[in-house]
Amino acid sequence: MVAARRIVVLTGAGISAESGIQTFRASDGLWENHRIEDVATPEGFAANPIAVHQFYNDRRRLLLSDTIRPNPAHTALARLEHSIVDLPEHEFLLVTQNIDNLHERAGSRALVHMHGELLKMRCEQSGLSFDLREDLTLDTCCRCCRVPGNLRPDVVWFGEIPLAMSRITKALENCDLFIAIGTSGSVYPAAGFFELAREHGAHTVELNLDNTNATFDEHICGPASEVVPAYVERLLSCAS
Ligand code: NAD
Repeated sequence: MVAARRIVVLTGAGISAESGIQTFRASDGLWENHRIEDVATPEGFAANPIAVHQFYNDRRRLLLSDTIRPNPAHTALARLEHSIVDLPEHEFLLVTQNIDNLHERAGSRALVHMHGELLKMRCEQSGLSFDLREDLTLDTCCRCCRVPGNLRPDVVWFGEIPLAMSRITKALENCDLFIAIGTSGSVYPAAGFFELAREHGAHTVELNLDNTNATFDEHICGPASEVVPAYVERLLSCAS
């Protein structure tokens, strides 16, 4: 264990699995029984926008249902942030690949959604994003250009550039502890974050059900709802 002052945490679909949201690759490379090419690429959207809207509408309805709540792993990361953020010379950034809102519902604030957000839509003309809780369809009227058909889910699809990369890169180059939680390490650029952090001197830790292929300094295996709170307690005992 290290007494860390500048922490970057990267989360993936695995942290939300115990909240009831399926991971990506759990079922043979399919996402909720859909091919990635069909529902998570600009080409898939151009070929069949109705089906893509329906896919994200279904995910959004599930996210907004009473059954989906943050689990103890989300809550522990919020506790970590709030415990260290006001300490002198401490910095914290939570980078999530998830498009759900469970981190913010748990209380995280120093948070970057590098792959966008399910509860937002984006105008393809202006690039502006707007909050969204209802279904999005080809008939939904854009709030900026006032015409239907210009809107898409505000998520980053394969082949597109993730959000906030310069802020993330700066934090990775400056951190002394990098923690990856519930991510398979198969989606770039996030899969390369641990190498960048390590090149700049950080201790690297993976918390996952299984070891991924990446070589972290530490691997902690187990369900996120158990191993993340335990790891956060260990970190906080070192910080105090
Ligand atoms: P992934 O599905 O490729 O990998 C999930 C990882 O989590 C696996 O390594 C698995 O072993 C691990 N895992 C599963 N259950 C776990 C648990 N209970 N505790 C700890 N670890 C567990 O996920 P990824 O690496 O995030 O890449 C998938 C992409 O799909 C992301 O870019 C994301 O945008 C998108 N996605 C998001 C959500 C979401 O918002 N919740 C859900 C599915 C997919």
